[in-house]
Amino acid sequence: MKIVDATLEQDVTFANEMEKVRADFPVLKLEVNGKPLIYLDSAASSQMPQPVIDRLVYYQTSQHANVHRGVHYLSETATSEYEGARQKVQHFVNAREDREIIFTSGTTDAINLVMHGYGRKFIKADDEIILTTLEHHSNIVPWQMLAQETGAKIRVVPVNDAGELLVDEYEKFFNQRTKFVGLIHVSNALGTINPVKKMIALAHMHGVPVLVDGAQAAPHMKIDVQDLDCDFYVFSAHKLCGPTGVGMLYGKASLLESMQPFKGGGEMIATVTFEKTTYNTIPHKFEAGTPPIAAAIGFGAAIDYLLTIGIDEIHAYEMELLHYATELINELSGVHVIGTAASKTSVLSFVVDGIHPHDIGTLLNQEGIAVRTGHHCAQPLMQRFKIPATSRASFAFYNNRSEVEAFIAGIYSVQKFFSR
Ligand code: PLP
Repeated sequence: MKIVDATLEQDVTFANEMEKVRADFPVLKLEVNGKPLIYLDSAASSQMPQPVIDRLVYYQTSQHANVHRGVHYLSETATSEYEGARQKVQHFVNAREDREIIFTSGTTDAINLVMHGYGRKFIKADDEIILTTLEHHSNIVPWQMLAQETGAKIRVVPVNDAGELLVDEYEKFFNQRTKFVGLIHVSNALGTINPVKKMIALAHMHGVPVLVDGAQAAPHMKIDVQDLDCDFYVFSAHKLCGPTGVGMLYGKASLLESMQPFKGGGEMIATVTFEKTTYNTIPHKFEAGTPPIAAAIGFGAAIDYLLTIGIDEIHAYEMELLHYATELINELSGVHVIGTAASKTSVLSFVVDGIHPHDIGTLLNQEGIAVRTGHHCAQPLMQRFKIPATSRASFAFYNNRSEVEAFIAGIYSVQKFFSR
C-alpha cells in the first residue's frame, strides 16, 4: 500500500495551531493495547478538553445548588450560571431570544419533546409527516409512535447512490395533508450535508413546520437558526466537547408557546390546585424538575472552548483531514466508501470486501484505533445501500494527519490478516 504524500495544499501554520489543541485533551495521552489512542469516533461522542473539565469541577466545588428556587448565595449563583449557559447556546445558534432555548437531556429527548408537545396536539389521522432516508432512529421512531397513535402517515425522501437527498422528490411530497417535516442536517452514518435551508423554504411555501436534527452539524459548522428559518433545531452537548446528559431544543417562541408540555412536575407550573394546573412561561414550561445544571454549564463552557478555536477553522481543518483520508482510502483495493456526497462533514464510512465491519473494528482496536462499526442507528439507510453495517471513522479537529495514516495502514493490515 502506498501512503500518498500531501497532495492537498496544507497551511502548515494552521495545522501546527491545531496540533497544539491536542494538548487540551487529556484522553489523547491514553494508551490502548499498548498503542497511543487514535480516537476516530467523535461522531458518536467527542472528547472533552481540560477547560470544560475544569469548569465542571469548579461548578461542583464552588457553585452547586438547585436553580430557580432559593434566595441564598449558591442557589443564585447556580441559577445565573445555568441561565448564562442558556444565553451561550442562544448566541451559538443565533436564536432571537434566550427563551427559545430549552435544555433537554439530548437530541433524542428534544425530538421526543417536539413529538409530544407539537405532534400530539396538532397532527391528526391521515396527516402526513415527511422524513428522509438519512434520519437517525431518534428522528424516525418518535414520529412512528405518533403515526401509530394518531393514524398519521410517514413519507420518506429517498437518496441517490452518493447518499444525497433527492430534493425534487421531496418537493413532490407536499399536499394538503402534509403537517410536519423532520430533517437531518448532517448524516451521522455518511456525513452528507443536506440543503436544509432550501428544504425548509420549500416546506414553508406549504405552511409546514420543520424540525432539523443538528446533532452532527453543530460540532462542525456555524448554525444560524434565523438564517435557516427552521422551526425547531436540536443537538446534544456531548458531540461538541461537552458533557453527556444535556442537549438543546431551539423552537420559535410562537410555536413553543402554542405547544402542550411534555413532562409535568415542578418548575414547569405557574399555579397548581388539585382541580387545575396553569403552566409556566417558556422555556420553563418544558423544563420540569431539576434540570441538568452542571451539564448545562459544561455545555456553555464547551461552546466557549469551540469559539476560541473558531467554528470555521474547525470546519476547514476537518475537511482537510477528510480529503486526505478519502484520498488514501481510495488507494486501497477492495475498500468502498459509502457516502460520497459532494458536500460532507468529516465522516468516512466504508465496507471492505469479505470482511465484516465488526472484525475491522475489533482488529483496529488492537492497534489502539477507535472506529465505530454497525448500523449507526440508521437501519433504513443501511437497507437502502443493501448492507447490514459499515465501519465509520469520524475525524475531529483534535485528530491529525499521522493518525489518518495510521488508520489507513490499520485497514491495510486487517486486509492482510484476512488474506493469510
Ligand atoms: N441524531 C443524530 C444525527 C445523531 O448522530 C445522534 C447520535 O448519534 C442522535 C440524533 C442522538 O443523539 P443523542 O443520543 O445524544 O440523543
